[in-house]
Amino acid sequence: MDFNISMVIASSIYLSLIIGFFFFKERVKNAETKIYTVLLIIDAVAILFETLCVLSAKFIKGVNPFVYIIGRLFLLAIVLWIIFFTTYVVSVTISEKGRNKLRKNASYYKMLYLFLMLLNFVLVAVLPLHYYTDGVVAYTYGASTNYLVVVLVISAIIDVIFAIKSRKYVPRKKRIPIFAFIASILVLATVRSVAPQVQIVSAIFTFVTILMYFTIENPDVKLIEQLNIAKDQAEKANHAKTEFLSSMSHEIRTPLNAIDGFSQLILEENDIKVIKDEARDIMMASQNLLEIVNGILDISKIEANKLEIVKVEYEPKKIFDELVKLTKARIGDRPLEFRVNIASDLPEYLNGDYVRVKQIILNLLTNAVKYTKKGFVELNVSVVKKNQVCRLIVSVKDSGIGIKKDNIEKLFSKFERFDIDKNMTIEGTGLGLAITKKLIELMHGKIVVDSVYGKGSNFTVAIDQRIINKVKVVNPEEVKETKKLNVKGKKILIVDDNLINLKVASRLLSTYKVETEEVSSGFDCIKKIEDGNNYDLILLDDMMPKMSGVETFKKLKSMKDFDTPVVALTANAIAGMKENYLKEGFNDYISKPIDKKELERVLKTYLNAK
Ligand code: ADP
Repeated sequence: MDFNISMVIASSIYLSLIIGFFFFKERVKNAETKIYTVLLIIDAVAILFETLCVLSAKFIKGVNPFVYIIGRLFLLAIVLWIIFFTTYVVSVTISEKGRNKLRKNASYYKMLYLFLMLLNFVLVAVLPLHYYTDGVVAYTYGASTNYLVVVLVISAIIDVIFAIKSRKYVPRKKRIPIFAFIASILVLATVRSVAPQVQIVSAIFTFVTILMYFTIENPDVKLIEQLNIAKDQAEKANHAKTEFLSSMSHEIRTPLNAIDGFSQLILEENDIKVIKDEARDIMMASQNLLEIVNGILDISKIEANKLEIVKVEYEPKKIFDELVKLTKARIGDRPLEFRVNIASDLPEYLNGDYVRVKQIILNLLTNAVKYTKKGFVELNVSVVKKNQVCRLIVSVKDSGIGIKKDNIEKLFSKFERFDIDKNMTIEGTGLGLAITKKLIELMHGKIVVDSVYGKGSNFTVAIDQRIINKVKVVNPEEVKETKKLNVKGKKILIVDDNLINLKVASRLLSTYKVETEEVSSGFDCIKKIEDGNNYDLILLDDMMPKMSGVETFKKLKSMKDFDTPVVALTANAIAGMKENYLKEGFNDYISKPIDKKELERVLKTYLNAK
């Protein structure tokens, strides 16, 4: 059989097999696979045109318009194949940095790409093309084919550059088709110069396409690759969680030890002064425990994208005074000098999320104190005012252990702690800076770190806050418990399956002289209402066996004439839970452990207490 005919037949058979395998298997849906699909289709079209060319050269003597059109269409298919192949190579080998650059100016690059594709397509379509035949041999030549060679060479250069640049992060296997393509071009060039009538163009492209299938585009290989990536990620996440849990359990044990120890001592103590002292220590340890739990909550909120910035008016001076007080208390009698420089032109009132601003700075100060044995910790606050915006520039400097250069990059990742052997005795979870960074980002601020290992660190934060020209501002944290609320004569039903929780709630409420009743299940709660008992407020726990708080609430709501306000009182405080309870129809939400201020707010709202 004629050599050219044998080549196109062989290419058709191979390509059909690959297309069969490729399209009947489940495929990974990504950009590369999509481009590869296009390459397969173009290759099939090119083989079809080349077959027609070969047959027409054999059976149609002389030049006729049909031969001419088919020859041109074949060249167009080939130019498209080359462009898509190069696109494929770039997409497989591009670095993360390059990808980000493309993403940033996506519309510009898209236009440029389409323009170049169109230009090449049009040039190959309109440039002069000649057809040579002497009855025995036949081939096309002229400006159009020459231009195609130029496109081929430029694409090959681009492919080689990307293949070489990506050698560090792209496995060798993925680069095989690129080098095969280059080798094929050399073969093609040699054959073309020696025997231009030999038609092996689509055979060569088919060869590269098939090679791609076996090296990268085989759906099985791709799925396995993805499964391996997912497995690695799951293992890493699992490992991080295990480490996190063990460090958490250590963290939680420390305050628990204090709570447990002092509680036992109180039971055996009769001196009221000592009892009060130890109760205060218990309160401090509980506060510490709550901070740890809140850290976990913040991280869970951050991961669920539910952390919100709540802007209110506040007095920054008071916030910094408080921060100084807290830091001094933390330093205690350690040999640490605490230097404070607060700008005198700090505005009197600002608008922003002062709770989070405080959390950010406190975290930096706490770290500085934690990781500095001797020397100093310095807090500098300066401001830059422009129009109504005040940029708070806060730097926290220390002469502590410092951070190694390699670790600075990882500093803001959650659960990362360094020099663990050295820091064994320093409490921490590795969550603080991850939360800090995220909070700063949410406020559109910036944080920079400057640290010399063994010498000390300097963390600088810049956050913009709006300036308020107001005379009087009430800082929510400043609301003093001036006098006890007056809720005499009101009656509250507390529902909780945990007897200790019932006791805590009813004891806290008893200080307001309010009458309380306690039940330990949703069933008992419903029974109380069915029996005709009237309450001014129901505090309802959610996580109870058999009938949850939400189910109990729905049953209550379906009862005739039931209009008592119901407040969810629950330890279920993860991201978005408050919103969920409100959506269910609960009037309000208090998280456990009960914050007295929150409790008072609820009493004021629902019992009309003064
Ligand atoms: P934690 O302090 O709870 O471990 P952070 O996220 O606040 O978690 O800090 C992460 C790690 O960064 C710390 O474990 C510590 O190794 C390092 N680090 C943070 N601040 C400082 C500092 N001021 N000096 C030295 N190391 C620090």
